[in-house]
Amino acid sequence: MDEKCPRCEGRLLPIVYGYPAPSLFDRASAGEVRLGGCVVSSDSPQWSCADCGTEFRDEAGGLTAVGADESD
Ligand SMILES: [Zn+2]
Repeated sequence: MDEKCPRCEGRLLPIVYGYPAPSLFDRASAGEVRLGGCVVSSDSPQWSCADCGTEFRDEAGGLTAVGADESD
């Protein structure tokens, strides 16, 4: 998947839920993934922008921002 952030066209990182394997910590440190923690709900985002930090869900119509800060 090579989706780009709809807001800033930054790189989207997959958000990984659950208890991460040690190798996943390395990937998170390297900025390749985001760790979402152990609790995942139906409206949890799947992608996080590496540049602006906005999180997105995959939905039928495309990527939808989750918990977006609309102040800008
Ligand atoms: Zn962005």
